[in-house]
Amino acid sequence: MPGTKRALFIDWGGTLALTQDNNQTDVDAAGNPILMPNVATVLARERPRFDVCFIVSNQPRVATGEISVAEVDRRVAWANERLGRPFTDWRLCPHTDEDGCDCRKPKPGMFLELARLYGVDLAGSTHVGDVEKDRVAAAAAGVGTFVWARDFFGSA
Ligand SMILES: [Mg+2]
Ligand SMILES: [Zn+2]
Repeated sequence: MPGTKRALFIDWGGTLALTQDNNQTDVDAAGNPILMPNVATVLARERPRFDVCFIVSNQPRVATGEISVAEVDRRVAWANERLGRPFTDWRLCPHTDEDGCDCRKPKPGMFLELARLYGVDLAGSTHVGDVEKDRVAAAAAGVGTFVWARDFFGSA
């Protein structure tokens, strides 16, 4: 049975969290992520239009041992608390291209798993991302709307 909940899927690096040129998440002196401009205000405005909201993020630095899953999870959980808990759940792909997994964007695995788990109407849902892989993954999952991060959050 197809789901009925309208979801807002959001990418992490370069969309919610500031990243360095090498795609590593920028952190402050306390080790917490630095959120992109306008994230708090735009999410507060847009989140009520959706039933559920998820972060879907490729984290290949886990596969290379540069960061642990627990630390990525801690950073995302910190952002969730900081923003007033807009996120229903999140999925992190800990693989690289060489692993051939089904979750690493542009594959749709993270979207499809969340959709099954929460009863999401994918066609009625939206994905916000900053790179082509995000757009392709959302399309492959059947997500009806894709919005570039710079348009959604009104930042560069
Ligand atoms: Mg990104
Ligand atoms: Zn994966």
